[in-house]
Parts: sequence; structure tokens; C-alpha cells
Amino acid sequence: MHDPLAWLDDELAQLDAQGLRRRIVTRLGPQGPTIRVQSDDDSSGGRELINFGANDYLGLAADRRLAAAAATAAREEGWGAGASPLVSGHSASHRLLEQRLAQFLGTEASLVFPSGFAANSGTIAALVGRGDVVLADEKNHASLIDGCRLSPADVRIYPHCDTAALAAILAECEIKNCRRRLIVTDTLFSMDGDLAPLADLVELAERHAAMLMIDEAHATGIFGKSGRGIAEHFGVEEKIPIRMGTLSKALGSAGGFVAGSRVLIDWLANRARPYVFSTAHPPAIAAAAIAALDIIRDEPHRRTELLQNAAALREKLSAIFPSAARAAGQIIPLVIGSADVTMQHSATLRRRGLFVPGIRPPSVPQGQSLLRVSLSYSHTPAMLNQLADALGEIRAGPRGFL
Ligand code: PMP
Repeated sequence: MHDPLAWLDDELAQLDAQGLRRRIVTRLGPQGPTIRVQSDDDSSGGRELINFGANDYLGLAADRRLAAAAATAAREEGWGAGASPLVSGHSASHRLLEQRLAQFLGTEASLVFPSGFAANSGTIAALVGRGDVVLADEKNHASLIDGCRLSPADVRIYPHCDTAALAAILAECEIKNCRRRLIVTDTLFSMDGDLAPLADLVELAERHAAMLMIDEAHATGIFGKSGRGIAEHFGVEEKIPIRMGTLSKALGSAGGFVAGSRVLIDWLANRARPYVFSTAHPPAIAAAAIAALDIIRDEPHRRTELLQNAAALREKLSAIFPSAARAAGQIIPLVIGSADVTMQHSATLRRRGLFVPGIRPPSVPQGQSLLRVSLSYSHTPAMLNQLADALGEIRAGPRGFL
């Protein structure tokens, strides 16, 4: 009988041949500074590894206070949300979380989405349409890219953090009389670990009457005096009208949000399709995120220690990897180049008890595969030393990092 999906075998075999096939691994037990992971073809209980492969930057994913808040909310509000927010899925916990996020970021309002991906893709598509133009950094996250693809607006990609190139495109838009302009950027880039030049972007947006949307997914809870992100770090918060973040990384929970003016939030609640047409995430998840906001307010040492440790490790690793020197925070990319070699190094590190994921196309461009070191407040100095030593030994070995 004809198998209409037979072509998938060929495609997967091709990915295999290129060293680009991904396989699902299962974590056994909680997310933390050490984890046990198991591949589908491995029946052992999984070995304990030091974990440099999570976005749990403040060590909150397995914090008991989040679990306790979620348990209380689940008891009081039930587990499932049962409907999209505009129907009956918006619980008291969701409302409180939105109030707390707006208070935290100093905006009039905020809107919580089921995921950061949904927040990004839905927001862009709701803000620009035919006759408009989106200007996007080439290294933007996939969810921002997909938002651009969902919109019939013209999409112009500018070279990474190149504000001169962006200025030129904006000037062109003025000549062509585009209707609306939206500049979109990650703030702390998820694979390069560097920062967007927010002050320049604000200035360009003002000069060209463009909207500016930032994705603080990797910066919320970590950067800035109060942990409000890179916009706070650079002192430009009030000048950025559309601020997106996720609850799934430093906040140890799940979901995404957009914060801004009341009118922005009202518009998104009416027009962002993943908000309108997707079931709200469980209220317990919102309750856990509120507990995380309390911890971010009450325990600032988590972010300061994390950033200090990150700076020290970057300094150590930058002698071996120039890409580490360009990073600015807790994400440290070690660019290797070939996908195959990157995965071999990842496997070598794993044999040494270190979980450092290899990142390959399409997450990064061809020829720029990398080991992505992601730090957490919960790593001990000994763990960081162990990583630096292992990388130093691999470099000194017969093949170095070739
Ligand atoms: N933006 C960026 C920069 C991200 O790295 C991610 C997640 N990897 C997202 C958005 C999506 O967030 P979520 O995982 O909450 O869907």
C-alpha cells in the first residue's frame, strides 16, 4: 500500500547524513544544576550530569516556593483553564499575574500568553499588515521570525545589531511612504549572548516614527537593577512601547507576556490570534510565576551572583573562544563551526559528566554550530571550574577544537 508519509524517512536520513538530525532526550527528575537525561535508545537510568543546558537562569524551575504556589492555586482554581481567556479561561491568578508584571515593569498593563512563542508571533502579526514594514535583526529568535512570516507586511532583515544598515532601510521606507514601521529585536540574543544596541534603536525609532518591540526572554529577572531586563540596564524603559518577555526561563514557570500601554494591551487582547484562539495556560502556572516575581524582588543576589560568575567564566573561556568574549551575560556561546564536530565535542563533554548542548542549523546559520553554555545561579564555583578545565583539556588534546 502506498505510504503517503514515506518521504519523511528520506528526509530524516538526509538530516542524519548532514549531522543535523535531532533526537528527543528525556530528563529524569527536576531541572537543576545537575540533571539526569536519557535518550530514547538508552535504557539505563541516565547518568547524572552537570547541567549547562537549561534556561533556568535563577534556579527557580524546581524551587519549592513555586511548586507550593502552584499547588495552592490548583487546589483553589482547579488545574485546567478550560477556555481561552476571552471566554472563561482568564482566572484570578492570570489577572493578578498581569497586574504584577505591569507593576514590575512600570507599564500600564500586560497580557499573558500561553507561551513566549505565542506572544511574539501573535503580537507582530497583530501590529503590522499589508502596506506596513517590519525591520528585524537577522539573529532574532524563531518566534519573532514566524511572527513576521504570519503578517502580510513587508519584512526587511538588517545585519546583526547594525544600526547604520537599519537607518538606511528606515530612510528608504520614508521615501516609499510605507504605512507603519515596526522594529523588532531580541535584547539578549539567545545564541550569541550579546546585547542589542537599545539606546540607538530607541533613537532611530523616534526619528523615523517607528514602533519598537523588544524580546527580553533571556534578560527578564537578570539584567537591570531590579531585574527588569536590558531596557532597564540601558535606562530606556519608558521609550520602548512594546516589551515582551517569557515566564519560562529566569522565572522558572511557563508562558509569555507583552507589557505596555493600556491601549496596546486592549488591541492585542482583541487581535493577537494565539491569545484569542488558544486556551489560557493553567492558573497554577500563573501562580508559580507570581511566586517567581516575589523571589526576583526579594533575592537580588541571585541575579548579581549569576552575572558575576558569568563574567568570570567568559573571561576564562575567551582565551579559547573569541565568541565567549562577545557575550555579555549568562549565555556563553562557544562557536565551533561544523555541526558534526560540535556534536562530537558535546558527546566528549557528556562523557566527562557535563551536559553542554550542541546547537546546529537551523537554530544557527550553516558553519556556525556552537556549544551553548547556559549558566544558572544554582551552579557552584566547582561546577564552573570543572567546565573550564574540561574545555581547556579538550583544546590541549590532539584535535583541539578543530
Ligand atoms: N524569545 C526568545 C529570544 C527565546 O529564546 C524563546 C525560547 N527559546 C522564546 C522567545 C519563546 O519563549 P517560550 O519558550 O516561552 O515559548
